[in-house]
Amino acid sequence: MLIDTPQSFTKFFHIDYEKLKYILITHFHSDHFTDLHIICDYLFKRKNKEKVKLIAPKTALDRLYKLGKLLELKRSKKDLLKIFDVVEMKDGKSVVIDNYTVTAFKVKHNVKYPFAYTVEKDGKVAGFSGDTAYCENLIKLIEKSDIVFIDTATEKVNDTHLSTGEVLKLMTKYKNKKFYSIHTTDNIQQNFQDKLNLPNINSEILL
Ligand SMILES: [Zn+2]
Ligand SMILES: [Zn+2]
Repeated sequence: MLIDTPQSFTKFFHIDYEKLKYILITHFHSDHFTDLHIICDYLFKRKNKEKVKLIAPKTALDRLYKLGKLLELKRSKKDLLKIFDVVEMKDGKSVVIDNYTVTAFKVKHNVKYPFAYTVEKDGKVAGFSGDTAYCENLIKLIEKSDIVFIDTATEKVNDTHLSTGEVLKLMTKYKNKKFYSIHTTDNIQQNFQDKLNLPNINSEILL
């Protein structure tokens, strides 16, 4: 399962595309979505002909098609539907796929459909905040989750992302949850390495 497909990440991470089953997209900003068009190339070539479940806010397929068109790729929507089984999410919707239950939470970000997700398996819940400012649904997601991957993109409070101060407060309030700060800047990583949990590329996180 991939959660978001940022620009250029396919260059730096080895992904076994034969085994890929699900892709969750939180929103369509380039640092969350753009490499989906690269992943398509791998999926068109893969031996495993099972469709990948693309779990995303509505308009995902249309945007992917238009992105391909801009890049002069000869790829119709019908072609895309050969590799993807699209599951359109909306606030509060849950889908059960194999042993996973994925639930969407509409959060607060400067796009039309910003989602956070919980992924539940065997009674354990991991939450992924997506990009969000502080909002009611973020709290709902935290309360439901055992571990939370949380946007910690800024040092100053703003309308689109969570700040370090807000995340530190949440960590104090919800001591029984494990928080991992994501979407951090180099400065935040340097200044807050003792206070925030910063997963690195090789982290293995066990529930
Ligand atoms: Zn964003
Ligand atoms: Zn982002």
